[in-house]
Amino acid sequence: MPNATLSIIGGGPAGLMAAETACAAGLGVDLYEAMGSVGRKFLIAGKGGLNLTHSEPRPAFDARYRERQAQIGRWLDGFDAGALRDWARGQGIDTYVGSSGRVFPMDRKAAPLLRGWVRRLRDAGVRFHVHHRWLGWTEQGALRFDTPEGERRVDADAVVLALGGGSWPQLGSDGAWQDLLRARGVEVAPLQPANCGFDIGWSEFMVRRHAGAPLKHVVAHWQDAAGTGHSRQGECVISETGIEGSLVYALSADLRECITRDGSTQLAFDLAPGRTHEQLQAALARPAGGRSLGERLRRLAGLDAVKVALLHEVLDQAQLADAGLVASAIKRLPLRLLRPRPLAEAISSAGGVRLEALDDSLMCKALPGVWCAGEMLDWEAPTGGYLLTACFASGQLAARGAIAAVARA
Ligand SMILES: Cc1cc2nc3c(=O)[nH]c(=O)nc-3n(C[C@H](O)[C@H](O)[C@H](O)COP(=O)(O)OP(=O)(O)OC[C@H]3O[C@@H](n4cnc5c(N)ncnc54)[C@H](O)[C@@H]3O)c2cc1C
Repeated sequence: MPNATLSIIGGGPAGLMAAETACAAGLGVDLYEAMGSVGRKFLIAGKGGLNLTHSEPRPAFDARYRERQAQIGRWLDGFDAGALRDWARGQGIDTYVGSSGRVFPMDRKAAPLLRGWVRRLRDAGVRFHVHHRWLGWTEQGALRFDTPEGERRVDADAVVLALGGGSWPQLGSDGAWQDLLRARGVEVAPLQPANCGFDIGWSEFMVRRHAGAPLKHVVAHWQDAAGTGHSRQGECVISETGIEGSLVYALSADLRECITRDGSTQLAFDLAPGRTHEQLQAALARPAGGRSLGERLRRLAGLDAVKVALLHEVLDQAQLADAGLVASAIKRLPLRLLRPRPLAEAISSAGGVRLEALDDSLMCKALPGVWCAGEMLDWEAPTGGYLLTACFASGQLAARGAIAAVARA
């Protein structure tokens, strides 16, 4: 394949992995990126400690991709969590497994990894074209880019699109590609927020006093769209409009699906997982001895100020005077979730290019010669490193497909 070139559009982890794979196979690689630099979302992911992947063994790992586990399992057959850790080591970045099983670079940062990776790709011959926003195709099939020097047109032997989802659009991935692909006959499920917070609509008091406060040591009870009940312990945060944070993100796919179907959904919290209903009721039924309810809830039920405020949000004065009802609410405080927070605020996106619109190498059936990779595909996963792992794996798979096709041509 002398002089064959691959155009990769999008310089996130999926696009960069595609570039590395194609370059190693001897293809000329041009990588186009709308922003002034690549990997901006990857860098932000590193702010809270870059969670590269997870040590959970397969097939439990694959199950995190929900209804897409079979397809993504095949991507992972080519590049799994172990391969990702080996790859990072090859970049000079050792990783460790945290107490939760999550895998991080030793320094927990994204910047050194990204800097070294881009430098090596450049040294290997990958041509980076930043400030190149892809606009679609000309009638003759050339790629159109908006650049500071005006529109540029590029003919490519093969194209990998790795344009990301629609969360945090200020970092470059704005989902504008959805209509471009739909117009070309590629089926795209609308992008939706994943790993997101939810609106509840707190009282003014709750917002003023507790927005931003952590809700610690709680157990969430919820139902998935099939009506199966689930429970999970963790922590979340009271936001100005509702609730967010790691525990809520982990449930967000189920919660979002129920809201889409029913208009709203219920999430219940056990605010005192270490105590039984009977213990709480007995303690709260004792004479008040001049102490306020808030004081008693703190002393007798171990509730902090946020948890006490939550009880006040849900129960009225008469209910708060009933020890049995209060004990029930502490063990299963019902909150009605009205809607997910907007996609722009979410950690990641659900929806995207339907996997049924792609062949096994991730090439668009409706657009021969165009492969897709990363978060722009229709899959979702919880946080925990599963997002990046699937982005890397699909970037490599798409590039391999393009390499094979160019070799055949
Ligand atoms: C705050 C935050 C923290 C996160 N933390 C983690 C974590 O710890 N672990 C984890 O696994 N995941 C994490 N993620 C998710 C992870 O960062 C993403 O899933 C991943 O970056 C997606 O990779 P991608 O290559 O598919 O897309 P992106 O990283 O979004 O890259 C797509 C690129 O395409 C470019 N682009 C878009 N449209 C165009 C166009 N028209 N023309 C040219 N270029 C274009 C964009 O500018 C962007 O650079 C986090 C996300 C956020 C927002």
